[in-house]
Amino acid sequence: MTTVAAYAAPAAKAPLERTTVDRRAVGENDVLIDIAFVGICHSDIHQVREGWGKAIFPMVPGHEIAGVVAETGSGVTKYAVGDRVGIGCMVDSCRVCVNCRAGLEQYCTDGPVWTYSAVGKDGLPTYGGYSQKVVVDENYVVRVPEALPLDAAAPLLCAGITTYSPLRHWNAGPGTSVAVVGLGGLGHMGVKIAHALGAEVTVLSQSLRKKDDGMRLGADRYHATSDPATFTDLAGSLDLILNTVSAPLDFGAYFSLLRTDGAMVNLGLPEETVAIELQSLFGNRRSMSSSGIGGIAETQEMLDFCAEHGVAAEIELIRADQINEAYERVLASDVRYRFVIDTATI
Ligand SMILES: [Zn+2]
Ligand SMILES: [Zn+2]
Repeated sequence: MTTVAAYAAPAAKAPLERTTVDRRAVGENDVLIDIAFVGICHSDIHQVREGWGKAIFPMVPGHEIAGVVAETGSGVTKYAVGDRVGIGCMVDSCRVCVNCRAGLEQYCTDGPVWTYSAVGKDGLPTYGGYSQKVVVDENYVVRVPEALPLDAAAPLLCAGITTYSPLRHWNAGPGTSVAVVGLGGLGHMGVKIAHALGAEVTVLSQSLRKKDDGMRLGADRYHATSDPATFTDLAGSLDLILNTVSAPLDFGAYFSLLRTDGAMVNLGLPEETVAIELQSLFGNRRSMSSSGIGGIAETQEMLDFCAEHGVAAEIELIRADQINEAYERVLASDVRYRFVIDTATI
């Protein structure tokens, strides 16, 4: 066992503070990773505040982890000491169910073992990336290509794959029209990746405040949802809407923007139940769906795609003692576009 420095919330809604956690001994198939950078995902804040229900405390959040392999178990074949690697939202799954075998470990029928606030197969709680080291089975580790800087690559492990997977599943590419609702941590990755895939990209944001950024990141059009004209101008014009906003919306208004067979896919997870009127889907065989992260192989595919297309997150690098302040700024949408913690400051 190794004791490592970490930042943890001691209880629900409590501020995060410096502490230590124990990492398991490096097993046969494990790698020990020196964490270099970790992103702050909005779901870290939901979890620390128990917005999605009971969580496990003390909690070390962080599932956008980038670092370097420091030690390998005797059975490890994919990684060597010095390799640049990443860990996303899950660190294990059953490996034998229909979804695991299909590369959809995120939908493991037993539920994957999440990177933090979960219980691992050893019966111990998992602790995330707001720490200096982590031990993970090599099958849940991905390689960060040399072309990607580790700090700007970290957010790809959640925000990147969460947008890449549905864009691929719903066939975004040349000739398709994709809208991204919300230009935050997830949304800015959605714009960059959809643009890199060759789709025509529209940003739908509350105001035009971030329009210059949106266009620079790859959007072709940028509309304010506070302007009713947006919903008449774009009516029936979109193949796919990626909704990154986790607050309830007027879904019917968004469905009206979809073409026949168009889909609105929800990536954020509201803390409250949402109501929709089926009439607004009915006329054009429109659908409403959701999507959660991506499998391990797809996460690797996403990193390779991003390296090839020069896509990474826009980040603001912070010290560990700025985490609590950063949480407040995320809640106020005051970040362009992802906070990343330099773990050397833990
Ligand atoms: Zn996340
Ligand atoms: Zn499974």
